[in-house]
Amino acid sequence: MSTFQAPKGTYDLLPPDSAKYLAVREAIAAPLRNSGYGYIETPGFESVELFARGVGESTDIVSKEMYAFETKGGTKLALRPEGTASVLRAALEANLHKVGNLPVKLWYSGSYYRYERPQKGRYRHFSQVGAEAIGAEDPALDAELIILADQAYRTLGLRNFRILLNSLGDKECRPVYRAALQDFLRGLDLDEDTLRRAEINPLRVLDDKRESVQKQLGDAPLLRDYLCDACKAYHEEVRELITAASVAFEDDPKLVRGLDYYTRTTFEFVHDGLGSQSAVGGGGRYDGLSEMIGGPALPSVGWALGVDRTVLALEAEGVELELPAATSVYAVPLGDEARRVLFAKVTELRKLGVAADFSYGAKGLKGAMKNANRSGARYAVVAGERDLAEGVVQLKDMVSGEQTAIGVNEIVAELESRLG
Ligand code: AMP
Repeated sequence: MSTFQAPKGTYDLLPPDSAKYLAVREAIAAPLRNSGYGYIETPGFESVELFARGVGESTDIVSKEMYAFETKGGTKLALRPEGTASVLRAALEANLHKVGNLPVKLWYSGSYYRYERPQKGRYRHFSQVGAEAIGAEDPALDAELIILADQAYRTLGLRNFRILLNSLGDKECRPVYRAALQDFLRGLDLDEDTLRRAEINPLRVLDDKRESVQKQLGDAPLLRDYLCDACKAYHEEVRELITAASVAFEDDPKLVRGLDYYTRTTFEFVHDGLGSQSAVGGGGRYDGLSEMIGGPALPSVGWALGVDRTVLALEAEGVELELPAATSVYAVPLGDEARRVLFAKVTELRKLGVAADFSYGAKGLKGAMKNANRSGARYAVVAGERDLAEGVVQLKDMVSGEQTAIGVNEIVAELESRLG
């Protein structure tokens, strides 16, 4: 134990568990790479204003949860609380929408920061893999993203997740609904903060988790009943496309999500084994965001899946990921000559792609074999002076315990063939 601990609301990823996180990131990324999405990486911090404008000043994320700070030079920055605003900023800055085909399809993976009240599944530092398709209004694109997220979760072996789907309308119909909702909210018994929110961003009141608020919302008008014909047709097509892909979803007319930039298609992936932090991922269409941050009109759609919660969901379902063996071969030299010989063999094996490790430090046979065991290696290669004098090493099968003498010059080929 050192004097220091990981900051509140954060945790370290340590082996062997950390391998699960890598596997989850990889499983989410694979279908994206396979569908025309290119990898993008943006800085961990951005101008505070980008998130204020992009995510929305009245959202909890911006008003309460942002790690904002001023640099020595007086620039106001914030650790990124989400990925979409940064990715769009970067795409616009590089003119990706002008030089390439539309939509510009990008995927990312990284750390995000929100000053939230920590609890299981809710951290101040967490990790997401996300995807954005920028510059096209096409229901097939919304459907594609939902289908790819579903595919990612299914290849991981997740089963007990549900996809909630809604449409938030567009700049035609949303204002009409907004006004109707405001009228309704003004008649409720709400605290001052919530009434203020109802004036600034009434849709977000629908997302209020408090029982006292929720129980008053039973008769709230639903956006579904206010959608204009274009939004209705668009949404219907998204629904048809994902249905045709055999991806099950539930219509959730109250789904709004905590970010301001969403329009039309909105969705969330929830897992029923996670308690209150049940959203494992979410996303939707954000047709107005580009203009909100000073760009041209670029209708876009995207999602972000939480890696931490996906790992929790896998644990909740008892899914054991098939992780590649950390070490397949563990070399145990006894004496200086054996160290030189086996170290060279380990290097050779590694070059061939075999996961191999070596007993470092002067350890006796017992201690070294204990480490070999702990490493999870399938085979140990043990050699002492007498073995080498006979031109062999001892190959021990760690599962059966069987030990065979193999020629020094044959050991690499033998291991390669045994490990397939
Ligand atoms: P959001 O940007 O809020 O839609 O979040 C997308 C996904 O990121 C969520 O579904 C979660 O899986 C994950 N996520 C968001 N906030 C946190 C947090 N504080 N701790 C852990 N995961 C989070």
